[in-house]
Amino acid sequence: MVPWGEVDTVLLDMDGTLIDLHFDNHLWNVVVPARFGEREGMDSAQAAQGLYREMLASKASLDFYDLDYWARQTRLDIDAIHEEFKGLIRYRPGAKAFAAEVRRTGRAVFLATNAHPRSIAVKHRAIGLLAAVDASFSAHELGAPKEDDGYWRGLARRLGSGYDPARTLLVDDNDVVLAAAERAGVAHLLCIAQPDSTGSPRRDLPFRAIGDFAEIMP
Ligand SMILES: [Mg+2]
Repeated sequence: MVPWGEVDTVLLDMDGTLIDLHFDNHLWNVVVPARFGEREGMDSAQAAQGLYREMLASKASLDFYDLDYWARQTRLDIDAIHEEFKGLIRYRPGAKAFAAEVRRTGRAVFLATNAHPRSIAVKHRAIGLLAAVDASFSAHELGAPKEDDGYWRGLARRLGSGYDPARTLLVDDNDVVLAAAERAGVAHLLCIAQPDSTGSPRRDLPFRAIGDFAEIMP
């Protein structure tokens, strides 16, 4: 599925790709609306609608992934909630072994994520995530979400002459992000069929999708 002879850089998304999206889905779709709703006197579904509807209807922005933005919007201690539920943070099937094997073959593995640096940090504390990659590039450091061309320009600048998008594989559970990477010349693109282990596998995705990373070991 991956022509490894044509790949020397691998970019891996974090939530829903390397890490089971169950943690984020539980935190943002269950815990945050329940606690916000409880304080504001509305049920969880109303709270989620009020908090997220506008954001989900608009183009992806950095705010959507910004822990400080959500702490202001909800007046909840979002960092403390991350800590409270960090036992749910785990790798997706085969993800840790895949990153290790790709690096063992001499290729570079980078984390390419929209996640806020403190969200990356809590995942690192839970499962040692940053030890699995050579470096991490958060959209918050590059100034644009991965859905925007600006992220890919920033990433190319940061990686310098060693980075050739034509010899790069991106694995990401977000097809809007995969399309943006494709516009930026990233040649090898794979999606994730089931980002949340408690959800159902998705069909009819616009990009080829994998289940377990064992399917694409170099
Ligand atoms: Mg993702």
